[in-house]
Amino acid sequence: MDLNFTQEEEAFAEEVRAFLDKNLHPYLSEGMRATPSVFVEPDIGGEWQRILNEKGWLAYNWPREYGGTGWTPMQRYIFERECALADAPGLPVLGLKLLGPVICNFGSEKQKAVILPRVLSGENYWCQGFSEPGAGSDLANLKTRAVVKDGQYVINGQKMWTTHAHHATHIFCLVRTDPEAKPQQGISFILVDMDQPGVKVRPIIGLAGDHEVNEVFLDDAVAPLENLVGEEGQGWTIAKFLLENERGGACHAPKILSDVRKIWRAAGTEPNGFGGTMSEDQSFMGDLARAELEAQALEMTELRILAQMSKGLPPGPQTSLSKLVASDLRQQVDGLAMRLYGYSGLVLVTERPLYGNESPEPLCTKEAQLAAPRYLNSRAWSIFGGTNEVQRGIIAKMVLGL
Ligand SMILES: Cc1cc2nc3c(=O)[nH]c(=O)nc-3n(C[C@H](O)[C@H](O)[C@H](O)COP(=O)(O)OP(=O)(O)OC[C@H]3O[C@@H](n4cnc5c(N)ncnc54)[C@H](O)[C@@H]3O)c2cc1C
Repeated sequence: MDLNFTQEEEAFAEEVRAFLDKNLHPYLSEGMRATPSVFVEPDIGGEWQRILNEKGWLAYNWPREYGGTGWTPMQRYIFERECALADAPGLPVLGLKLLGPVICNFGSEKQKAVILPRVLSGENYWCQGFSEPGAGSDLANLKTRAVVKDGQYVINGQKMWTTHAHHATHIFCLVRTDPEAKPQQGISFILVDMDQPGVKVRPIIGLAGDHEVNEVFLDDAVAPLENLVGEEGQGWTIAKFLLENERGGACHAPKILSDVRKIWRAAGTEPNGFGGTMSEDQSFMGDLARAELEAQALEMTELRILAQMSKGLPPGPQTSLSKLVASDLRQQVDGLAMRLYGYSGLVLVTERPLYGNESPEPLCTKEAQLAAPRYLNSRAWSIFGGTNEVQRGIIAKMVLGL
């Protein structure tokens, strides 16, 4: 396995850098730098999506026939790395990276023709209705029920922690269509329009004051039968495919490394409280160096997974390893930023957004203003997409064979 970039890959990196130089407007990168939440808001994410779509560089994990880029996994990594270094906004993951590949693989011809172009254009904004109050790690316990009545699905239940449901036009849901079948076998994957009387969204405000997640109540919500993806009872298989896509081929290291480097730079000027700078604080610098080394090791692991995918092999359960390490590192790095900014980072500003003309003036610096909400929001990393404990369980069973 050769993890060095080839000449073509180096040339591709150059092409991406040139594109970013020309097309990534400063207000988008400033917006990204000043986003303390996990997901970026649609105002900057949507604009960046439009720019990438125009270039044909949006859907890199879709097959080319449906509008995908046709990039190798290594090109995807290079693209992610350059975007992270340039502070490009994150893209709407749920429609683009999760639902898109599901529709390409399991969708009907009509679903492919209607849904995929609207995901690309941003006309439809999707959220993910998997988790419920009694079904998070134990997703097979989900209770939301869909029955066929008068030629359509009628859906009742509650979804939980639904990211950006308040922005979404549609939600893809796991629902129980057969309560008699074994838990995993009675589940189906159904697409639901949010704009109907049977769908209610209630905000959940996070630790740092951000409104990212919601409760979604489905109370006699309806969906046409043609909104079933795959077959009835195939929902679990589709969910596993989606979750593997969510964890697999993810490129967390570039963003973490880019943030570590920002801390290195700032350590040269931030005061240490004893007349010097934080770069003279050996304990701090030792922890920062350790985090950077771990992030470099994570990068190698992610590249190894991508090299495996280049050979047509699935990302496999070792993606749990990269999700686990990335979550730990994300929290470590945001903790280091808190130490870096000391007292000036302690003020928790809850107004949003923290970019643009309306953003509140920082007491000290913009970077210090972002430290506390970032630190608090990074707690979510060890929960979403499968908790750290669940990832460890998968690693023990599927990777180590324990
Ligand atoms: C910011 C954020 C955004 C999210 N966005 C979405 C979204 O858009 N759509 C969506 O469907 N869901 C979303 N989620 C939900 C997320 O997937 C769940 O929170 C997660 O799967 C954990 O489920 P839970 O919260 O029910 O916790 P539980 O499953 O109840 O877990 C509670 C504790 O028990 C531990 N535990 C559970 N099972 C095991 C086990 N087998 N072995 C060891 N320990 C175990 C867990 O690790 C955890 O510490 C989001 C969550 C967060 C925090």
